Amino acid sequence: MRYISDALREKVIQRAQNYCEYCGLAQIGQEATFHIDHVIPVAANGLTILDNLALACVSCSLRKGARQTAIDLQTQKDVPLFNPRTQNWFEHLVWDDLRVVGLTPTGRATLTLLAMNRPTILAIRYEQKFFKRHPQPQPQSRVSD
Ligand SMILES: [Zn+2]
Repeated sequence: MRYISDALREKVIQRAQNYCEYCGLAQIGQEATFHIDHVIPVAANGLTILDNLALACVSCSLRKGARQTAIDLQTQKDVPLFNPRTQNWFEHLVWDDLRVVGLTPTGRATLTLLAMNRPTILAIRYEQKFFKRHPQPQPQSRVSD
């Protein structure tokens, strides 16, 4: 893992409005501290700059690891994972109450790889909905570097 300054970390968290940028989980109310994910992994020469970082819950961060693609079960094709820096979540994924539904091959492959509808997270979303933390807000306009 690369060193990330507190100032950079704070910008990533602020831009993400403190939500996992993959599965939409709110950091507030969660015990584990969310990770700063390299969208393009360090292993693939991804840089530690605001434009390549995303806030990710521990589950999404660990499941994603150094992957950049995954299989879309519908088309059986290996497709790029959702990129929170260049793509809009709501164009690739949609909420069906507590469940995430993929709208595109990228959306479907990402939700499958990151297991975004596993029973534990459905239970957490149920709670977050009660606290009005689910679903996540629309992305903000870009935060400058
Ligand atoms: Zn997540």
